[in-house]
Amino acid sequence: MPVEEEYELIIVGAGVAGVFTGYFATEKKFKTLLLEKDRSPDGATPRSGGVVTRMMDNPLDSELAAESIEIIRGFLRSDSEIINDGYISIEDEDDAERDLEKFKELIPDIEIMDAAEVMSRWSYIKLYHDEVGLYSPSDLTLNPFKLLKYMWNRLMDRGVDLQPGKRVTRLIIKENRVRGVETHEGDRYYSDKVVLASGPWNREILKSHGIDLNVWLIGVPIFKFEVDRTKMVGVWDENIYSYWRPENSHWIGGVYDSFPIEKADDGFRKPDDEAVKRILEGFRYRFKFSQWRLIDSWSGPISISHDYKPICREIDEVRGLYIIDGLGGRGLMRGPALAKKLIERIIS
Ligand SMILES: Cc1cc2nc3c(=O)[nH]c(=O)nc-3n(C[C@H](O)[C@H](O)[C@H](O)COP(=O)(O)OP(=O)(O)OC[C@H]3O[C@@H](n4cnc5c(N)ncnc54)[C@H](O)[C@@H]3O)c2cc1C
Repeated sequence: MPVEEEYELIIVGAGVAGVFTGYFATEKKFKTLLLEKDRSPDGATPRSGGVVTRMMDNPLDSELAAESIEIIRGFLRSDSEIINDGYISIEDEDDAERDLEKFKELIPDIEIMDAAEVMSRWSYIKLYHDEVGLYSPSDLTLNPFKLLKYMWNRLMDRGVDLQPGKRVTRLIIKENRVRGVETHEGDRYYSDKVVLASGPWNREILKSHGIDLNVWLIGVPIFKFEVDRTKMVGVWDENIYSYWRPENSHWIGGVYDSFPIEKADDGFRKPDDEAVKRILEGFRYRFKFSQWRLIDSWSGPISISHDYKPICREIDEVRGLYIIDGLGGRGLMRGPALAKKLIERIIS
């Protein structure tokens, strides 16, 4: 028998955007349903790099990252099972001086370390020419799969009806107002407030209702190395555009690389030989572990808006239908803060 039930808020998708929206909804005491098409966390979030830094080009992103760090630390403090403290950006000296000025208000503990200091503290990092490290002890990297698992459990404790394995196939819309959603099993859940937090799948859902979302989709490769170290620090490499997160004796990261995709499901393919070649070059250029080997690689789909800004608003054509999208390669930094803003917007 198909289910029919009523909620105050329905969220579609339990990646970073969905779970944090769910959390802030419980703070406002909404009776909330969170539907996720897969049995355990899937999508871009659990496949991502796990970097959460305020050292971003765009001031809006730095502010969102600052708020997201506050939110994440509010839950996890320095839980070493999930969080690794500290992040260092390798930059040319002039860029680092400029960035220090730019970030010092937002990141009070930020400091420049010269090459000798960086290499004596983290001897597996190589610096060249006039490179230095811009170091923030309070930025972080995290295990995104464990973060989602933690949030899923926390949401259930707080009374969110979290239903994995339920794919939303249709929105119920009447007279330009959302009324609920229907799943692949024919279950119908009713609410006059629905949040689409399905990441790169949002576009397909909206398209099936004749609504265009101006985003493009890409697949992003990422790699896992086994190395002879533990207690490492997350690294951003401004000069060859790569990012790295430590996890016990593993080093997970990528160079900024992508392939175009038509739909989200195409974003999961294994990185090709060219992508492997690029990451190995980047790895050898920047690091000098005495023992290391590439042990795994995967890709994940992300969606990017035409102006690179995140999308967090009500859909013009349908009252009560909200969306978080366009998180690009920055969803862990943007998502928690945007989820909070969206719930505040819904309330107001
Ligand atoms: C390789 C890689 C590295 C990255 N590194 C970083 C990084 O270091 N730092 C950072 O901040 N960001 C990073 N990102 C970007 C970040 O992962 C994304 O921006 C973010 O995860 C997007 O979150 P989301 O919740 O919008 O989407 P997703 O995480 O994709 O979640 C969407 C969820 O919706 C579900 N869903 C889809 N359709 C339906 C449906 N019809 N019904 C029900 N459920 C549905 C999916 O199964 C999925 O779980 C990286 C991304 C990739 C791919």
